[in-house]
Amino acid sequence: MTQNKYDSIVVGGGIAGLTSATYLARAGQKVLLIEKNKEVGGLVNTFSRDGFQFEAGVRALEDAGVIFPMLKELGIELDFVRSPVSVGVENEIINIKDINSLKDYQQMLIKLFPDNEDEIDNLMVIIHKVMKHMEVLYGLENPAFKDLKNDTNYLFKQLLPWLPKFIFTMGKINRMNMPIEDYLKDILTNASLRDVLAQHFFKNTPTFFALSYFSLYLDYFYPLGGVGKLAEAMHNKYLEYGGELLTQTSVISVDAGANEITDNTGACFTYKNLVWAADLKTFYQQTNTNKLRPKVVLAFEKQKNPILASRGGDSVFSLYLQIDEPLDSFRQVAHGHFFYTPSKQGLGDTHWEELKTMLKQWTETSKQDVYKWLDKFTALNTYEISIPGLKDETLVPAGKTGMIVSFLADYDLFEQIKKDGWYNEFKTELENRMIQVLSNSIYPMLANKVMKQFSFTPLGIKERVGSSEGAITGWSFQEAIPVMHKIQYSDRSTFTPIPNIFQAGQWAFSPAGVPMSILTGKLAANNVIKYVKKNKA
Ligand SMILES: Cc1cc2nc3c(=O)[nH]c(=O)nc-3n(C[C@H](O)[C@H](O)[C@H](O)COP(=O)(O)OP(=O)(O)OC[C@H]3O[C@@H](n4cnc5c(N)ncnc54)[C@H](O)[C@@H]3O)c2cc1C
Repeated sequence: MTQNKYDSIVVGGGIAGLTSATYLARAGQKVLLIEKNKEVGGLVNTFSRDGFQFEAGVRALEDAGVIFPMLKELGIELDFVRSPVSVGVENEIINIKDINSLKDYQQMLIKLFPDNEDEIDNLMVIIHKVMKHMEVLYGLENPAFKDLKNDTNYLFKQLLPWLPKFIFTMGKINRMNMPIEDYLKDILTNASLRDVLAQHFFKNTPTFFALSYFSLYLDYFYPLGGVGKLAEAMHNKYLEYGGELLTQTSVISVDAGANEITDNTGACFTYKNLVWAADLKTFYQQTNTNKLRPKVVLAFEKQKNPILASRGGDSVFSLYLQIDEPLDSFRQVAHGHFFYTPSKQGLGDTHWEELKTMLKQWTETSKQDVYKWLDKFTALNTYEISIPGLKDETLVPAGKTGMIVSFLADYDLFEQIKKDGWYNEFKTELENRMIQVLSNSIYPMLANKVMKQFSFTPLGIKERVGSSEGAITGWSFQEAIPVMHKIQYSDRSTFTPIPNIFQAGQWAFSPAGVPMSILTGKLAANNVIKYVKKNKA
């Protein structure tokens, strides 16, 4: 049984777990990473179908002062290209190049909403300020990936001069924490304009996070070969450092008192430290605290209730298309990462309110009612369109185009429909409506050229990575967030009430995406190492 004893076990081989495991192995620990799927990466994944490469999760990566410093620190070389973004509403499309593209965005909105010119001008001043704050926030290589003891140049010339700016910026950011919908109501009188700006964000997204998106558009990059190359590179580095990996293995229980986990085959593994880099509700449900000190049990129970009572955030519906049309036809329309709203009318109450009412009165809702709602939902929504071949031509067969089209989608609707037995029919209806909306608007060449289509629903996301409510970035903004959500305290986000168990990833800090998952992964590894040192002393 000695081979089942580890210094650290990391549960969940998404990008957060990969980061923790790699840094722990690099520190010389005997590490086991356990992942329930066949391959690691979680929502950072590229897969192949009939010669077309597609992303299962995130479509392109944002550095955020995190990814490149980590790659540099680990000595990983990743070939990448910039992943430029286009934004479009109806027939108006702009390609975003740099901060000056904000002017094009302003002109586009004014053209669409001429009666609101002054308000749009004012909004642009605010977005510009937010972008300046973002330059401070992400303008420095994150200190978590720097050797502060030996890199005195970084410490004295970059980090220390940056700190006062950071503290000032945090003050500003914390004052922009209200939901974006409420903030926009105060400054924009036109409801359609507000919708067009905010409807592709999660409901109640904090204002700063939403308005910072223009900066994030400039930060996107794409590894050649697909975003999955990042996970692949981390995986290789982890193995190079001597880390052990078990795939197709799910952890089904944690006995925290015995420092032992059990997997789905009944095998047990013991750890000195555990990093939980998967869904946190699952952790709190599976963890047995018998034999722990009463104080720790109490703290665990206190944290468990809000965690279990909270919901995962919104999920997405993604449509995958294999198209018999060359990339050039699409290149002429927009970049390979495109946020497109086919109607300037905006969704209004269609998404959240009408859907909520429909779900509440489900027994009185007919299939026709759902499809009527779906017509509006698909016509008025904002689509995130990704064409991997426009970023790397090797990702599609010659003369063809692969496309991923997605929007935010509600887990409960899909679950309800599945229960009622018409899930596959609904998926096809939704896919066809999306194709129709895009053929009738921005991509007329799409009609009759789709060779194959398939989709991935919120239920599929839950099944794949085990995330509550199919969430893609952790907790819902519609309720109190049960984990750390202040960036200046991000270090604390990795602690659980159990001293030798740490947490990382999209559930550990809110709001989270790839950079925050990586950062918490690294911070969790740091805290494990500190904990080990403290207990040796
Ligand atoms: C369509 C889409 C678009 C996105 N766009 C962006 C974006 O633009 N910017 C951005 O920053 N982020 C974006 N994201 C979010 C981002 O991809 C995720 O937040 C991030 O990848 C989460 O990483 P993670 O490691 O925390 O979690 P995950 O990727 O969920 O990894 C968790 C891993 O744990 C495994 N696991 C779960 N339970 C167990 C168990 N019991 N035992 C063993 N293994 C287990 C899972 O299989 C999974 O591999 C997007 C996601 C999607 C789906």
